[in-house]
Amino acid sequence: MAALPGKPDLVFPRHKAVIFVQGCFWHQHQCTMLHWPKTRVEWWRQKISANRARDEVVQDKLLELGWRVLLIWECALKGKNKRPPDQLVSNISDWLHAGNSFAELPAVVV
Ligand SMILES: [Zn+2]
Repeated sequence: MAALPGKPDLVFPRHKAVIFVQGCFWHQHQCTMLHWPKTRVEWWRQKISANRARDEVVQDKLLELGWRVLLIWECALKGKNKRPPDQLVSNISDWLHAGNSFAELPAVVV
């Protein structure tokens, strides 16, 4: 199979679905794990905005190709509001079998 745009972390060809595990800082998730560095702030902002723009291009391409896309955010995997592993597995399984074309799994909302 030809490489998919953006090199997804997990590919499920039978479900025509891909999963990206994304760091909240690098991909600018609006959550509590997004802490801006105190130095070179402008440089970081530009860098992270560029990442974010590239993510959107990649996700659009995958959707156009008929793939479904799930983003699992770092904050769902670690930190105080992370999802318990069994919940995470069932969330992913539900999505694989009946999910929207685009979905995100952030931290548990408290
Ligand atoms: Zn996050």
